[in-house]
Amino acid sequence: MSDGAVNQPRILIAATPTPNGDLHVGHLAGPYLVGDIYARYLRATGAPVTWTTITDDSQTYVVASAARKGTTPARLAADSTAAIERTLRGVAIELTSSSEQLLPPVDARCREAVTEFVTALHAAGRLRERTVRLPYAEHSGLHLYDGLLTGGCPACGAGSNGGACEDCGTPNNYDELRDPRCTLDPQEPVSVREERILVLPMEEYRAELEAYFAEVTPRWRPHPKQLIEQLLSRPLPDVPVTVPGRWGVPAPFPETPGQIVYPWVEAMAASMYATWWANGQDPALPYDHYWRAEQGAELVLLHGFDNTYHWGLLDLVLLLAHGDRYIRPSVNVVNEFYELEHAKFSTSRGHLIRGTELIEEGVPRDVLRFYLALTLPEQARTNFTRAELALLTDRQLIAPWRELGDALDAALAGHDGAPLPVSPAAQGRVAALAADLRGCFEPSGFSVARAAARLAEHLAELREQAAAGTGPGDLLAGARALLAWSAPILVDTAEAARAAGIDLALDAGPVPDKITPFRLPGLPSNPLAATSAEAPVEAPVETSVESPVEEKDGRS
Ligand SMILES: [Zn+2]
Repeated sequence: MSDGAVNQPRILIAATPTPNGDLHVGHLAGPYLVGDIYARYLRATGAPVTWTTITDDSQTYVVASAARKGTTPARLAADSTAAIERTLRGVAIELTSSSEQLLPPVDARCREAVTEFVTALHAAGRLRERTVRLPYAEHSGLHLYDGLLTGGCPACGAGSNGGACEDCGTPNNYDELRDPRCTLDPQEPVSVREERILVLPMEEYRAELEAYFAEVTPRWRPHPKQLIEQLLSRPLPDVPVTVPGRWGVPAPFPETPGQIVYPWVEAMAASMYATWWANGQDPALPYDHYWRAEQGAELVLLHGFDNTYHWGLLDLVLLLAHGDRYIRPSVNVVNEFYELEHAKFSTSRGHLIRGTELIEEGVPRDVLRFYLALTLPEQARTNFTRAELALLTDRQLIAPWRELGDALDAALAGHDGAPLPVSPAAQGRVAALAADLRGCFEPSGFSVARAAARLAEHLAELREQAAAGTGPGDLLAGARALLAWSAPILVDTAEAARAAGIDLALDAGPVPDKITPFRLPGLPSNPLAATSAEAPVEAPVETSVESPVEEKDGRS
């Protein structure tokens, strides 16, 4: 992150959304909004940015949800991808794209990328044959892993799917879950079958992993950093590269006929393909062009804590196994869970709010983005409530913004439009704001929540200055800085400002001592604010002990 020169290309990848349903507000308040705000910030500084993700259609969560909903995995993936795309657009998540679509299609070229990626590992002698014990559903004839498998986490005992525990983040493979059951039918008898698969032994990369983490973990947040340290303190697992299965990319190896590529192994190849797709799909370039080490791009991965093992460790080992061919993440930006009315978002219990639902109710998307930015779970779980959305945004954004706009209008009434002087004190305040906001986008302290809070403080100060009769030049300088630095969050307001000719570039030059007058673009009001005073706060859904057969939300 911003360590490099302004011209260094940046690649930001959000954890690949699983197309087994739409994205809810809990997903949005994680990698999607954070990556979008960061990408918009970098673009405003003039840095070349690719900001993308891609649906992970091969995940068993798609198979499990499709069976539950009585549809086919392909149908569910297509419908969910369309819904996810609508939601991303609804809250103005502006992925890099050279087409009408935001999300790269999971097509033949994408599957070829996965095949090429694992074939290169096989050809380089990186894979090993192993006999493993896989849970097996006797009646349906399914090998059980990831979203098809449920049981008790071997580390913390919580109900968990296969792969990694959503609660403690610890990985589990094969027959490691306690009391393994089939998600599709928890009553179905489950046996264990020995299967010959190909794996990538993570332990063989220990020295490289330790050197890498010694360099990057100072930039990691404490909780995921602690998990990585724990994982490195014990023998590292083998990464399955192939598994018996029917839904996924066929494994192209003679040793494993009829198997597929383990779905989690697709993520890096698919992300490389997504980067190529976002940048114009040049058929003359290989799918992994932008990730080659010689391109010198800086890579940032954004994901939830529950994906720390997969996106922090497994994917890294997949990159390391290719030798020096690829860039490595300069940091993983890891979020915690966002809760709804103090309970986990849950698709299966219907305890969720979709982002588009709030937009359809008339919540302006700038207001929603601001509230999510202020409250998103960076270091600990945080909570979403409609009442707080209304109250907080009215108090910290909408009301002071309106008052500042009114004060500026009054101060500029009858003014001829000539540039106004900006005092050294006001120049100093704008420079201090810029320094603080830049700090929020530095790797050592990356924080969208702190950026949003700092902007709210700046707005409150400007309103007080306006009330105290500060000169219009000083108010305008503060308002221009407010508009420019809030532009990555308040995207529609920024668009209105640009249309009115206000310069929102975030260059690092000195603050000018004159400013041309402008009107502060208005913020739309939030219809929730009008009703929140009378509306009863929704009763929180009971946080009962989660059944181990609870449908996992899918990951993000
Ligand atoms: Zn656990």
